[in-house]
Amino acid sequence: MDADFEDLVARLAEIDDVQSSVALLGWDQATYMPTGGAAARGRQLATLEQIAHARQTDPALARLLDRAQPAAAREGEGSFAARLVRAARRDVERATKVPAAFVGAFAAHNATLYERWTHARPASDFAAVAPLLARSVELSREYAGFFAPYDHVADPLIDLTDPGVRAADVRAVFTALRAELVPLVEAITSAAQVDDRCLRQHFPEEEQLAFGLAIAARFGYDLARGRQDRTPHPFMTKFSLGDVRITTRVRADYLSEALFSTLHEAGHALYEQHIDPRYEATPLAQGSSMGVHESQSRLWENLVGRSLPFWRGQYPALQAAFPAQLGAVPLDAFYRAINRVERSTVRTAADEVTYGLHVIMRFDFELELLEGKLAVADLPEAWRERARRDLGVAPETDRDGCLQDVHWFGGHVGGAFQSYALGNLMSAQFFEAALRAHPEIPQEIEAGRFDTLRSWLAANIYVHGRARTPDELVRGATGKPLEAAPYLRYLRTKYGEIYGL
Ligand code: ZN
Repeated sequence: MDADFEDLVARLAEIDDVQSSVALLGWDQATYMPTGGAAARGRQLATLEQIAHARQTDPALARLLDRAQPAAAREGEGSFAARLVRAARRDVERATKVPAAFVGAFAAHNATLYERWTHARPASDFAAVAPLLARSVELSREYAGFFAPYDHVADPLIDLTDPGVRAADVRAVFTALRAELVPLVEAITSAAQVDDRCLRQHFPEEEQLAFGLAIAARFGYDLARGRQDRTPHPFMTKFSLGDVRITTRVRADYLSEALFSTLHEAGHALYEQHIDPRYEATPLAQGSSMGVHESQSRLWENLVGRSLPFWRGQYPALQAAFPAQLGAVPLDAFYRAINRVERSTVRTAADEVTYGLHVIMRFDFELELLEGKLAVADLPEAWRERARRDLGVAPETDRDGCLQDVHWFGGHVGGAFQSYALGNLMSAQFFEAALRAHPEIPQEIEAGRFDTLRSWLAANIYVHGRARTPDELVRGATGKPLEAAPYLRYLRTKYGEIYGL
């Protein structure tokens, strides 16, 4: 490694330090910070984001990247140097297009709006956030403008979370997905319904958290490099490869809440914890995209955590943890209960089958808001109408309607939701490929062993961090580009059995 390359790596590490500090303050804000800290925290985050931006746009960094380019090219396209230069250049080019004043103003705006939303949501008071949300739409449009020309105003925002994906691609996938999901939901909700009352009893919170975390640890979540805390809106965050944290939300009257959100966030954490340690503190030490990240949370939460082989192995332990509640409930009844399909209003509580319809609805709203076809003031009514049509049930309050998701109230409007559905598609495609390579995986899962699956995922996805693009990962791991067929096959088979279709 020459001196210039070392200098480049050191500068990138400094940027990573600032970004990790942003993440740490954000984690604290969402877990332990008293509400009185909100105003100062907003200012602190805005300051740090401006510092990170200033470092990223420093002409000295661009010069170091230029100088590193020939050496990186000589080492070959797949080399650490070449991948690092590619990822860092993308970040620098993106950052350089956005004026520093915008970065500061947007961060400050988001901090104010997020704080307002945390009060508006429980009060179901959309009017309290509507003007600020309208400003978010304007700022998101302005942000997209820095990347003109584009085909669709949402493209630069989508590219931020899912590099290389455009609004038109997502629209095409979603049209096909919707055409399959609508009749499937119709068939399921017309069949005999599943009783999930066994999950809706009193389950002491501490025992729930302990059980979920024990499963996460069995999956391979390393608690010497992680921890779990409580939050109103669960997420995973990372401050270094040695400190990857999950958060969860627990309800004493509903077992699924904490259990599956823990397995979900553990899936995100497994990804980060298995990234190549050589990538530490560089732009390669993160997931390839939001969509790929979500494929891993959904894979561990659903394809493993809501599967029959998994519970054949784990159900006795769950019954032992909650003998009064589940001792007399047979495995089959429990399995059906955790996979109950229901027309519902809240995305994060939605089952696997209706989930995609929630995401498609959000995506459509994002495009319409950005295109100016839908005014923020009309959002609550449009939401009720669309939910009635697409989900088959309208929310009774804005709390469970247009105020339910944190995303638009703390970041861009646009590019926030497509990852969830793309992740689902990828999860089934990856899982099928893992099973082709190792047909013994279901038996191992039943026996409470997850090593073969995790090792396959680590080798094909996790270890590469951001050194491979989503498309490179999907093709490399499955031999094909992203496709919807495995996911639809998975849903039809699983729910066909549960609902006797
Ligand atoms: Zn997730």
